Formats: sequence, structure tokens, C-alpha cells
Amino acid sequence: MAAQPKQKKLQLNEVETLKQRLESVYDDARNNEKILKKFQYLELKLLSCSSLSELIQIITHHSRSTFGWDTLTIILHDEDRKIYKLLKESGKDPDKQEALQLLPDITHVKHIYGMTRKPTLGKFDLEKHRPLFLANQKYPRSVALLPLQRNNCLLGSLNLGSYKLERFQKGSATDFLQHLAAVLATCLHTAIAHERLKQAGLTDALTGINNRRFFDQRLEEEISRNKRLETSLSCLFIDIDHFKIINDSFGHDVGDTVLKKVAELVRAQIRSIDVVARYGGEEFAILLGQSGETKAIEIAERIRAIIAETKFKNAGNNINITVSVGVSTINFQQRHNEVPKLIGRHLLQRADKALYQAKQNGRDQVIYLEN
Ligand code: GH3
Ligand code: MG
Ligand code: MG
Repeated sequence: MAAQPKQKKLQLNEVETLKQRLESVYDDARNNEKILKKFQYLELKLLSCSSLSELIQIITHHSRSTFGWDTLTIILHDEDRKIYKLLKESGKDPDKQEALQLLPDITHVKHIYGMTRKPTLGKFDLEKHRPLFLANQKYPRSVALLPLQRNNCLLGSLNLGSYKLERFQKGSATDFLQHLAAVLATCLHTAIAHERLKQAGLTDALTGINNRRFFDQRLEEEISRNKRLETSLSCLFIDIDHFKIINDSFGHDVGDTVLKKVAELVRAQIRSIDVVARYGGEEFAILLGQSGETKAIEIAERIRAIIAETKFKNAGNNINITVSVGVSTINFQQRHNEVPKLIGRHLLQRADKALYQAKQNGRDQVIYLEN
């Protein structure tokens, strides 16, 4: 009879232990659900990204703050510097993005993952992991290294670091991280391909400079920008003189080489922020932002002179080329209430008319027409 209360007490203790265990399982489940929600939200953000630069921004900033990762870097294999150029041309300077490393060779990353290419969690190893993290920041104590791969090809690595030793432990479950890495790799691959396609559609295949489509897109942007700044925007139309004779005398291939060289010479005379495009067959167009008539005429004259002075070589012959240039300027210090499209059309028409006059006056010259 005396054993009964003792047994009851024992049962109560067991129930208590079970209750606590259950509570802890619930806690874990609730915690996992929270993490899962965060990952799902991040994934949706990544999947709805419209550009490569936005994708990188989300990974390097948003994801880091959401998950409280102390350090984060992303390494991408950029063998031919294509990704670098794409980012640069989209206005996102890769040199200014500390967390992003674009490398021509990622052998060291391949060594870390070995053949299995699975996420690697554990203690930070100075010798092995140092190249993955930023030298000007405190090194983490534990790391999660996630291979970014698509179709068995290693695109790079997402490197997460924590100042807490216990945050990323060897043997921990990596399902969420593995899934995130797979989604990110797919998004990166798609964004790069999309950006390349976009770029190809806006570039002239022969000269490598932008085409008319790009110019027309940028024209409206430049009008709005210069209007906001209340500065002047100038437009130059450059047309090679008697180019047909070059083709007829030396052949189409020589004509192509001359076009490429002219594009190079024109490009070298302007700033990187200016817009230059091959507008038609042997015609180039330039937009000079924050530049009034004096500056625009000076640059037009410089372009005319350098082309006239250059000897275009062909099979031992020197070919002389000249260009005619039409210049127009719009000054936004005065009021302009028309819509950007109309202002742009007017600016181009004036430059075209000026070019026509330069041709009429005997070619190899610059003509400016008031707006
Ligand atoms: P003008 O001084 O009046 O401009 O005379 P032009 O001979 O330069 O002008 P025209 O419009 O009569 O001829 C332009 C020539 O440019 C004809 C065309 O075959 C040539 N052309 C256009 N695109 C290309 C190209 O991509 N490659 C080569 N080689 N020639 C081209
Ligand atoms: Mg011509
Ligand atoms: Mg022409």
C-alpha cells in the first residue's frame, strides 16, 4: 500500500519530462517554420528579380540582414569578364560591391567542395577559407559554404560566416541552405543569360558600340536627366563622307574595317558617360549630357580632325577618310514643357539638318544649328 504514492510520483515525473520534451519539439517545429517562411520569402524575392544587379543586391544585403549572417560573400566564375561588363554596363559598378568577387579562375573553390559539391559547414579554417572572405573584415568563427551549381557546372560559391562558433556546425541539417543555393544558382544563370541577350539586342555586331535602339532608349532618359539638372544636352550626327567610294574602290571588307576604326576613334574622344551609337550604315550619333553648344562644337571638331588626320591602312595604301558633323543643343535652363519624346525628336531633327548643311557646304566640317 505504501508503494502507491511513490509510483504515482514517478508517473507524474515521467509525464512532466514528456511534457517538457513535447514542448521542446514544438519549439523546434515553430522555429523551423519561422526559418522556412524566411527562406520562402527570400526565394520569392530572388525568383521575381528582373536583373542581375538586383539579384546580387538581394543576396548581399537583404538575405544577410534577414538571417543575421555576420559576413557574406559571393564568388562567381567570370572567365571572360562578361559578368563584370554586364554589371558595369547596367550601371552597377562591380568594383564597388565588396561582397561580390568575380574571378577568372575558381580552382580554390572547386578544391573546397571536392567531388560531392555539397554545402560545407563547420569551423573557419584560416588557410582554406581566407580567400573566400573579406580581408578588411573580421574573419568568421564558423562558416557555411554553399556551392552554386547548375547542370553539374560550378558557377561559384555563396559563403556565409558567423562570429559564433556554434552557428554553423559540421553535420547540421543543410536542407534549407542547399535549397537556397540551388534556387540562387538557377536565378543567377537565368539573369546572366537574360542580360547577355538584352545586351546583344542593343549592340552593333560590327563595331561593338551600341545601336540605334539603345540610342533611342537613352535619348529620353538623358532628356529627363538634363531637364531635372537644368543643364544642356547636345547631339552630334556624324556621317562618313563619300563612303560608297571606299566600298567601291577597296571592297566591302575594307569598308567594314574603316567603320570599326572610325567607331573606335569616335569613342575615344568622348567620356564614358556619353552615349554613342552606330545610328545607321556609316552614320554615328552621340549624346553629350551636361554639355552646351561650345563644348559640343569643340568635341565635334576634335572628332572631325582626328579622323581626317588618321591614315587608314590597306595593303600598303593609306586611305583618307573625312566626316561631316551636325550639332544641336537643347538648353534646359529655359523652360521646355513638351514631353521628352517631342524634345528628343526636335533635337535629332536639328542635328540631322545641320549634318545635311555640312554635306551641302562641301563635307569635312562641323555645322551647328540653333534650336
Ligand atoms: P555622303 O558623303 O553623301 O554621305 O556619301 P556616302 O557615299 O557616304 O553616302 P551613301 O549614302 O551614298 O552611301 C553610304 C554607303 O555606306 C553605302 C553602303 O553600302 C555603305 N555601308 C552601309 N553600311 C555598311 C557596312 O556595314 N559596311 C560597309 N562596308 N559599308 C556599308
Ligand atoms: Mg556618308
Ligand atoms: Mg549616310
